[in-house]
Amino acid sequence: MSETVILACPQCGAKNRLPTSKLNNKPKCGNCHKSLGVGEASELNNKSLSKFISNNEPLVVIDFWAARCQPCLMMAPNFYHAAKKLPTVRFAKIQTDRHEQAGAEFGIRSLPMLVALKNGHEMDRLSGLRTASDIMHWVKSLS
Ligand SMILES: [Zn+2]
Repeated sequence: MSETVILACPQCGAKNRLPTSKLNNKPKCGNCHKSLGVGEASELNNKSLSKFISNNEPLVVIDFWAARCQPCLMMAPNFYHAAKKLPTVRFAKIQTDRHEQAGAEFGIRSLPMLVALKNGHEMDRLSGLRTASDIMHWVKSLS
């Protein structure tokens, strides 16, 4: 019996059960047929954020950012790099100036802010501009 993992679709939020051996094949959502964003950092909205957090089995890391936040823009490539290097972790982003409810719900007062969650529960957060290796070290310490 092969090992499986449940991944939430960053677009529609549907749960997808996949064999871990298929993770490297750019898997698509069985519901909306869009990419499941493995090894990527998909952009979420208020609605997809809550499903992404509750429907993912692996560790979830959300980058709360805003277009007016210069350090956020500087950190974006570092976050994408970490996502690519750690494809078993579910990285995603939410733009808090477009989706204010999300920032308020999580009590985000400074940007950029990374929040790590597992099974819907917050485990830790990391604030400020970070390098890709900072992000990877932090994520690995949680998994
Ligand atoms: Zn989907």
